[in-house]
Amino acid sequence: MLPETKALDALGELKRDYQDFIKINYEHRAQNCETCPVQGACCLDAHFVNVHITRLEAAAIRKTLGKLSAEKQKAIYGRAEEAVEKYDLKTTGDTFAQTYACPLFETGIGCLVHSESKPAACISHACYENESDLPPDFFQKEVENRIERLNERVYRNALTWLPLPVWLNLINSTAKEI
Ligand code: SF4
Ligand code: SF4
Repeated sequence: MLPETKALDALGELKRDYQDFIKINYEHRAQNCETCPVQGACCLDAHFVNVHITRLEAAAIRKTLGKLSAEKQKAIYGRAEEAVEKYDLKTTGDTFAQTYACPLFETGIGCLVHSESKPAACISHACYENESDLPPDFFQKEVENRIERLNERVYRNALTWLPLPVWLNLINSTAKEI
């Protein structure tokens, strides 16, 4: 078993390493997001986005969002709650078939957790012209396996991969109860 604080440190290091790896080896072949004419389309496309995270990643996102003003945090968790309702996101069944517009995208800023707690799927994702330029799936799978093992060491058999808004909603409700 591992205390959550230690697991969050390990998770942060794992994500930083993966982000650096993708940046150095793949990102230069992708379209530049800063000059993208449809910035955010990738995160807000409710027919496409199905990013899943673990409870530990939700805790890391909560920590990142905790640096924002209370008002801002309320608005973001509010968007997560709305997404769960609007897209009828569930914790059971084929959760990967559920899609939604991501509540962590902020117009004018981009991904609110880009530097500290971006999901592995989002680190891997970018717009590439040639399929052969994409990072092979097994890199992401390996990172996600390591995330899953960390998650299990903290929370044992707790639910693991769920749609991002579902976990944000759950973790926010838990905080409210405390
Ligand atoms: S990932 Fe693609 S759609 Fe999203 S901002 Fe970057 S270039 Fe634009
Ligand atoms: S977590 Fe960030 S990069 Fe991933 S879908 Fe949401 S806003 Fe986009």
